Amino acid sequence: LTFGDEGDEEDWETRPPVVTVMGHVDHGKTKLLDAVRNTNVVAREAGGITQHIGAYQIATELDGQERAITFIDTPGHESFTAMRARGAKVTDIVVLVVAADDGVMPQTVEALNHAQAAEVPIVVAVNKVDKEGANPAKIRQQLTEYGLVAEEYGGDTMFVDVSAVTRQGLDDLLAAILLTADAALDLRANTEMDAQGVVIDAKLDRGRGPVATVLVQRGTLRVGDSLVAGDAFGRVRSLLDEHGAKLKEATPARPVQVVGLTSVPRAGDTFLVVEEDRVARQIADRRQARIRNAQNASMRKRISLEDLDAALK
Ligand code: GDP
Repeated sequence: LTFGDEGDEEDWETRPPVVTVMGHVDHGKTKLLDAVRNTNVVAREAGGITQHIGAYQIATELDGQERAITFIDTPGHESFTAMRARGAKVTDIVVLVVAADDGVMPQTVEALNHAQAAEVPIVVAVNKVDKEGANPAKIRQQLTEYGLVAEEYGGDTMFVDVSAVTRQGLDDLLAAILLTADAALDLRANTEMDAQGVVIDAKLDRGRGPVATVLVQRGTLRVGDSLVAGDAFGRVRSLLDEHGAKLKEATPARPVQVVGLTSVPRAGDTFLVVEEDRVARQIADRRQARIRNAQNASMRKRISLEDLDAALK
């Protein structure tokens, strides 16, 4: 099985959408991500404070059904484009944040260009509607020029007026994300196979050693699994969610902190579970050798999907 192979369709199950928040600087991306994170009342009561681990998942309700949404917790198109440049398609939906008192700005256009080039559906969050001088209608009108026509004007893009400060419109935003996902995307993934996915964030923790936040894209990741992530490898010692709670396993679209790697991988590295430690070590060794060679040749080489496939053969 190579990276990206989805295996048997019988084993596919619906998974939550993965969302990246993009938009012009100061239009409220960070604030909005914080506000959405705090909609998770159940989790908050049970687990306490949410940590910033690079991604989080919230539970919400749509038409009486409990649904989850995963948010990549690093705003901006840098992470989006860096991951895509490396072949990792992480984002299902882009939430484009536009401040209602400021309007469409250069980075708004840049962000929507990236999303459109990647054929990722966009939900527009018209933010800061609590402010004096907010003009949400103007944002809708401005964005028609870029092919984003609001549903109420006969288009197929959902616009939601929100305030990350007063929290107005947040539930509508979550609903719009799910409705857009249901209308435009077939979000299913294999839950039976060994896990594969992408490293969202990684660091060296004083007490715990290398800690990587990974997003499982297919399969189920379990404590005890041997995995390779970029040129790092190791056995999963523990899995922690965004509340620091220990998990036994992580299924598709679940962001989870992995403790147990022997070195720190890089954001955008792909990861996969292999049958035994020995194989994980071999693949990692081979990649490290390749990186050393590339370094000698001047620049540090990034592991591409092709390298990963080649290393597996
Ligand atoms: P980012 O650069 O896009 O991540 O923007 P931030 O989230 O850092 O927000 C920029 C500034 O706008 C901060 O001072 C926020 O407090 C403020 N801000 C963000 N959202 C809102 C909002 O909905 N209403 C108001 N009044 N201020 C907001």
